[in-house]
Amino acid sequence: MPTQEYRELCRLVREASTLGSVSSLLGWDQETYLPPKGVAARAEQQGLLAGITHERKTHPRVGELLAACEGEVGRVIEPGSPEAANIREMRRDYDLATKLPKDLVEEWATTTSKASEEWKHAREKSDFKRFAPWLGKVMDLARRKAACYGVPAGGEAYDALLNEYEPGITAREIERVFTPLKARLSDLIARVRASKAKVGTKVLSAKAPPDAQQGLGEFVLGAMGFDLQAGRLDTTTHPFCSGIAPGDTRLTTRYKGEKFTDALYGTMHEMGHGLYEQGLPKDGPHAGTPLAEAVSLGIHESQSRMWENFVGRGRPFWKWALPHVKKRLGPHAAALRKASVDDLFRAANTCTPSFIRVEADEGTYNLHVMIRFGIERGLMSGGLSVKDVPGAWNEAYRSSLGLKVPDDRRGCLQDVHWSFGLIGYFPTYTLGNLYAAQFWEAINKKIKDLPARLSKGDFAPLKKWLVTNIHAHGRRYRAAELCEKVTGRPLSADPLMRHLESRLGEVYGL
Ligand code: ZN
Repeated sequence: MPTQEYRELCRLVREASTLGSVSSLLGWDQETYLPPKGVAARAEQQGLLAGITHERKTHPRVGELLAACEGEVGRVIEPGSPEAANIREMRRDYDLATKLPKDLVEEWATTTSKASEEWKHAREKSDFKRFAPWLGKVMDLARRKAACYGVPAGGEAYDALLNEYEPGITAREIERVFTPLKARLSDLIARVRASKAKVGTKVLSAKAPPDAQQGLGEFVLGAMGFDLQAGRLDTTTHPFCSGIAPGDTRLTTRYKGEKFTDALYGTMHEMGHGLYEQGLPKDGPHAGTPLAEAVSLGIHESQSRMWENFVGRGRPFWKWALPHVKKRLGPHAAALRKASVDDLFRAANTCTPSFIRVEADEGTYNLHVMIRFGIERGLMSGGLSVKDVPGAWNEAYRSSLGLKVPDDRRGCLQDVHWSFGLIGYFPTYTLGNLYAAQFWEAINKKIKDLPARLSKGDFAPLKKWLVTNIHAHGRRYRAAELCEKVTGRPLSADPLMRHLESRLGEVYGL
């Protein structure tokens, strides 16, 4: 039975969360419609709001109420109940917010803001030496931050940063899953490269006008169960999803790609994030508290990758989608007009090593992530120095993907993350793929006729499974626990490998 202290604690946490949602709306606006001359004022608005939100989050009253509520668990609040889980997660958030001293928070904000500007110039000029001093500063701050958070017993400094994005996971645990995954992926990619099968992507090239593509995107969103009365789709340079508030989930995409699937899959990816945001119990009794929030970045990414890859690149999807795609984009695409389901399925699943992570196919993608994981872990431990990053990067691309990196722009300067101080973020991309594959197997065991349903455009049972088993829990369970609860097994590389081996095996005749 929730006590008065618990209710007051939830109220304060919800207020901080509401302030956060105002900041999200300003952020969305900045990436979509804000005129360039409004950027400076927006930074001031965001800065002020961040300060107020931080004060609310770290208010001593929150600490007092947390301590009182923790004393109630086992007495009036049942251990293992949603309320007890909520208290555990509110404690985590409070500790993370209060452990960082104000001067570090300020230095972090100013340094990463300058570092990301420097990164833009360095990337443009493909000049790592220009970015190196800034990466050095960011790494120093990251090490200080890790020290403030505290390194878990038997762990390493990198774990303290991982914990921000994927609560509770350690570098050693990631290594346990990544190591066999890497060996099996390398073997699979070698077999693909040795295959004589010819798989082209010509059917995907369509320079359709943005409004035709937007129409297709919105049609697919509606069919898959994204509520457009509680969300919208806009255009931006870097696609993202923002779950701003109950009834307000915003997706963005872009229509600049050479292939129409660039925008379509981008939209479906963000929609996976968006369905998660819409499925969270945001307007229930725990609105604005951890029980109405996503578990982790890895679990969030599992939702986006599931709709983009497991659904979107599958044969059943194309059986359903092809007539609709032809109707809407056909007038702009000669190759598409004559294409068969098989043509689309094969073209959407080509596998070719490439330099840029965000453009990588499903088969090679995770190797890109593992390279970054190895490098940032080395930087954190001090085993790798900043000046040696390009060398280590290029060597890793040679040995993992068989590529000779031509310049730093297509090498270690391609991603923005490190300039923002997002150390420990990259592994969550692969964790997302792994969780997606493991969930996908569990779903297919439960919904035996899923492929037949998907090929008819019946996406409701899949969405319902995700809402019931993943979304509705909010942060009640940590990612590892949720994975075991839903699939009966700890996270493993096997389901993802089974998926890739079967799909690429079919496409390349392996
Ligand atoms: Zn994503």
